[in-house]
Amino acid sequence: MEKNNSDIIIAGGGVIGMAIAYYLSKESDRSITVIDQKKPGNASWASAGGLWPIGESVGLGCGVIFFKTLSKQRRENPNEIIETARPHQLPDCFLNYSLISNAMFPSLWDELKEHSGIDFKFEKTGLKFLMYDDDDVAYAKQIQDGIPHLKDQLLWQDQQQLHEDEPYVSRDAIGSLSFKPDHQVNPYLLVQALRDGAQRNGVKMVENAEIIDITMQKNRVTGVKTKQQKYNCSLLINAAGAWAAQLADMIGIDLPVAPIKGQVIVSERLPPIMKSCISTSDCYIAQKDNGEVLIGSTTEIKGFDTNGTYPELRSLVSGAIKALPMLGSVGIKRTWVGLRPGSPDELPIFGEVAGVEGYMNACGHFRTGIVSSPITGRIVTDLVMGKQPPIDITPFLYERFLDPSFKASFSLETEVA
Ligand SMILES: Cc1cc2nc3c(=O)[nH]c(=O)nc-3n(C[C@H](O)[C@H](O)[C@H](O)COP(=O)(O)OP(=O)(O)OC[C@H]3O[C@@H](n4cnc5c(N)ncnc54)[C@H](O)[C@@H]3O)c2cc1C
Repeated sequence: MEKNNSDIIIAGGGVIGMAIAYYLSKESDRSITVIDQKKPGNASWASAGGLWPIGESVGLGCGVIFFKTLSKQRRENPNEIIETARPHQLPDCFLNYSLISNAMFPSLWDELKEHSGIDFKFEKTGLKFLMYDDDDVAYAKQIQDGIPHLKDQLLWQDQQQLHEDEPYVSRDAIGSLSFKPDHQVNPYLLVQALRDGAQRNGVKMVENAEIIDITMQKNRVTGVKTKQQKYNCSLLINAAGAWAAQLADMIGIDLPVAPIKGQVIVSERLPPIMKSCISTSDCYIAQKDNGEVLIGSTTEIKGFDTNGTYPELRSLVSGAIKALPMLGSVGIKRTWVGLRPGSPDELPIFGEVAGVEGYMNACGHFRTGIVSSPITGRIVTDLVMGKQPPIDITPFLYERFLDPSFKASFSLETEVA
């Protein structure tokens, strides 16, 4: 039907789909439709909203608990607090990409406040890594040595300076290393603001509609089918988050994206108790603009399971109380589970796939899709418009997985229960 023709269809209305819709609709006069079916665990609504380019790059941002190696021990003795594994650093190309994206937030914030009237609460909090012992200090020094060009973006605080800054932090913490450019936003409002901005630019939203098939003529994508309708397009952008592999599979593309479970706990609203977001070797803690304190997050490979589980939540609570003892006496408002779109090298996947026309990937953002949403919008817009993206996207192309020398840093294999 004529009314279902659109030049470009974006599959998925999370932060990635909406950032692409917003940036692309500012520059392109092609018609754009976003098709979204909210599935349990969609990541953008589960996120902490951390803009932690340095924290994420050094492995500290989005939960430092790598459950894969620890889950067996936890199952055997769920009450035992187990020493957690140190996360590893992301590849160098990630730091540059995420710093550029992070630097886009102040202007995006102003732009969207003016354009859509929605304030996504960009807060310049910084991120502090708390140190409890010599191991933590050694780890922090290792972080600093790994990014010598960003030395002036780091701040060391001894115990006294830390407590002047953050009086509620436990006296067990002997100091901290702050990442000055690492801030935070409200992720739901960010998605809403991008969506509202995109709609004002003429983007059509089709919601509660699951794409169940992709139509093709020879090797060219010609549209998608939902349970209710058929939509024609000349370009399909796959921004379906943790479900991106299911979409790619409809046209025979083997996309290595899998759901990575993250559990989160949120407190009742509190008066301000922290200036910065905090990361420890057990968890991260962020007080949001409405006073709620968010404690995250686990990293589990449990397929599309979105159940909250006691040992993992308990471990987050213990880590949070260790850092901020006063949290032991505040109420828990809710807990939730989100599914990160994981990729085997923890990097996103952009661009076309050789042999398939009219199709583009914009997925696999793993634990950093919020901070990297503006640059994703920019990169995909440039690719669609035939322009040069602001960074070299070679490390982010699908083709990397076909290279025999490709090495995965993260196993997407589901843990056995
Ligand atoms: C607990 C947790 C904490 C996080 N914290 C941070 C953080 O602090 N900072 C940060 O930068 N990142 C964080 N992340 C990661 C970030 O949230 C994700 O990388 C990002 O949200 C991915 O966005 P997306 O749009 O690709 O996926 P999603 O937000 O999941 O959106 C994909 C959408 O596509 C829809 N969809 C799927 N299949 C179909 C289909 N067949 N038809 C129609 N629609 C479909 C889904 O239902 C969903 O609505 C966190 C993630 C989790 C889980």
